[in-house]
Amino acid sequence: MAQFKETVLEIDLNALAHNYTYLTSKLHNGIKTMAVVKAFGYGSESTAIAKELERLGVHYFAVAYVKEGIALRDAGVTAPILVLHPQPINFEALIDRCLEPSIYSIRILSHFIEVARSKNQKAYPVHLKFNTGLNRLGFRGSETETVLAKLKHTKALKISSVFSHLVASEDANEKEFTLRQIESFRTISENIQKELPYDFFLHQSNTSGVLNYPQAQFDMVRVGIGLYGFGNSDIENKNLKPVATLKSVISQIHIVRKGESVGYNRGFIAKNPSRTATIPIGHADGISRAYGKGVGWVTIHGQKAPIVGNVCMDMLMVNVTNIDCAEGDQVIVFGTNPTAQQLSEAVGSIPYELLTAISQRIKRVVC
Ligand code: PLP
Repeated sequence: MAQFKETVLEIDLNALAHNYTYLTSKLHNGIKTMAVVKAFGYGSESTAIAKELERLGVHYFAVAYVKEGIALRDAGVTAPILVLHPQPINFEALIDRCLEPSIYSIRILSHFIEVARSKNQKAYPVHLKFNTGLNRLGFRGSETETVLAKLKHTKALKISSVFSHLVASEDANEKEFTLRQIESFRTISENIQKELPYDFFLHQSNTSGVLNYPQAQFDMVRVGIGLYGFGNSDIENKNLKPVATLKSVISQIHIVRKGESVGYNRGFIAKNPSRTATIPIGHADGISRAYGKGVGWVTIHGQKAPIVGNVCMDMLMVNVTNIDCAEGDQVIVFGTNPTAQQLSEAVGSIPYELLTAISQRIKRVVC
């Protein structure tokens, strides 16, 4: 029987373990790791990823929303899980599943105290998020006194950690800004430490923070993209391995005559007799239309096959005029060649966006 192929996102747990070991080799003794597995583990497969990381010794997980934390609990993840952007409507569910909220504003703090009290909680672990420059979520340092005063009036909550997020740790041109962010976080943390009679973790670094700012490791680091195989430079990318490989298959090959067009809106017109291959993956799967008209490419038998014309919803066509290939052959959309970094850069994007865009319609195969 012939071996038929389909479109799959292969998740390589050995690559994940390699990246984890590499990133943790950059940490000072005793620094803990929080693995960021939001958005389905950066588009890969959050439960298998989280379970493997738990086995490897990750101390904490971070997700964006309560729903993501519940999925990890349902899969049997028992490590603590920080919910970075919880919504009050989900606070009860969050407590029921032992998830830990980021508390980033007085409004969120007040609502969470109310819900924790109504559920008779004592010393429920929460994480105070401070804004040191991103201006996205978080208290300003100037709000510290108000936050602490509110916390002193309740036994329902206990601060498990105080954290902040770096804005541009991958950008050497923003070094001065990043150093100011680190100092600002240090000052805020020290002010809170002076006021509280118990210990809590401090964390600020993401992957690029780990790679570029060893002085910002505090007690724990929150790593995301590095675990999935991407650092902040070509050199670091060589030390890491892509975890996700998007594979597909040639559905059909067309001989296109000179002057004929391919795809919607006649996005490609053959200047010469050509061969095109139709691949069953399209913009509904996360390969944006921006990759069309030769901007993006796939690899077939190690050779670059440019996308011709416009990417369709469920398909795209590539030029295989000079590639020895046949219907049913395997296609690499991204993995080690091209990498998600190379492909995303072709449209002025970043691997985070390409990886997380890969739709749930595509089967995940963990290996
Ligand atoms: N911490 C927070 C608050 C985040 O939003 C993210 C990612 O978006 C991370 C940590 C992980 O960042 P990176 O993927 O660059 O390591």
